[in-house]
Amino acid sequence: MSKRDYYEILGVDRGASEADIKKAYRKLAIKYHPDKNPDNADAEGRFKEAAEAYEVLSDQQKRAKYDRFGHAGVGGAAGGGGAGMNMDDIFSQFGDIFGGAFGDAFGGGGPRGPRRTKGSNLRIKVQLTLEEIAEGVTKKVKVFRLVQAEGVEYDTCRQCNGTGQVRQVRNTILGQMQTASTCPSCGGLGRSVKSKPKNADQHGLRREETVVDIEIPAGVEDGMQLNLRGKGNAAPAGGIPGDLLVQIREADHDDFTRNGRNLHLDHHISFIDATLGSQVEIPLLSGKAKIRIEPGTQGGKIVRLKGKGLPSVDSYGRGDLLVNLNVWTPQELTAEERKTLESWREAANFQPNPDARDTGFFDRVRDMFS
Ligand SMILES: [Zn+2]
Repeated sequence: MSKRDYYEILGVDRGASEADIKKAYRKLAIKYHPDKNPDNADAEGRFKEAAEAYEVLSDQQKRAKYDRFGHAGVGGAAGGGGAGMNMDDIFSQFGDIFGGAFGDAFGGGGPRGPRRTKGSNLRIKVQLTLEEIAEGVTKKVKVFRLVQAEGVEYDTCRQCNGTGQVRQVRNTILGQMQTASTCPSCGGLGRSVKSKPKNADQHGLRREETVVDIEIPAGVEDGMQLNLRGKGNAAPAGGIPGDLLVQIREADHDDFTRNGRNLHLDHHISFIDATLGSQVEIPLLSGKAKIRIEPGTQGGKIVRLKGKGLPSVDSYGRGDLLVNLNVWTPQELTAEERKTLESWREAANFQPNPDARDTGFFDRVRDMFS
């Protein structure tokens, strides 16, 4: 299932300012809001889609990653928790962009009860081999994360009576104005911890070792970050869990070096194979391939094996494998070998003559797969 481009969803161009993005999202959120479109699955889908696009494009860092890596850069292709936002996430986002005007936009929805807090994010690094990157991989990783402790009892916050907000009425020149702010006592939760087990912290959370399956898409690159929504630390009192941010590290490979989607391989052939032509076997990330060595091949020739490189994380097709052919010069010879070679030393065909290199050198490389 392919995801739509976030800019396209919001109907803004890639250079749009923060204000433009906010404005575009506000318009869509009002149009597709579930209160206005009851039992309309299509509207709900669009509402969520717009919220997700806004969540990424309104955050400078996420936006930069999205611009560079597409959906995979912001967890869109990572599966698991990365696929979309829930309604709580979306409503928690509204505070920032609608402020107090949110209720007005929908004909007086009024304030939305206590705030649901968000747990903190966890960061881990995952090292991958090129083989794993080529195919994509699911990694089991141990993380120590905060989870809700069992047996925690809560009380309704006395200062705000569970609303999470405290109200003040002020007299101004425009008349009486009521302002609401987050309850300082419970931080907006509306609840406070009444009793908790010994192993829990003051928020009723405890740290636990958990094994998380991290689904890593094929083609990721060193330094990329995947965002697994909701796999981070728990939030107090059943709030929204934080995210697990997975940074990709790429291990060096014995045979291959990587250049974007392309792989490079240094391969040595004998000077006899180079002279007479041959067929040689080379390693691939998975399996082997045979390539044809044209008669009269010069050292430094590069053979391109189309599609034998790495997949791209955010588009179709694969890169190529570029095989750099080095000609191996013997370093030890038997008396007999030496004698044979000596007898050809002065022969005209053995004299370097780069200007008259045979056409084979410039021929388009023909690859042989088997
Ligand atoms: Zn309170």
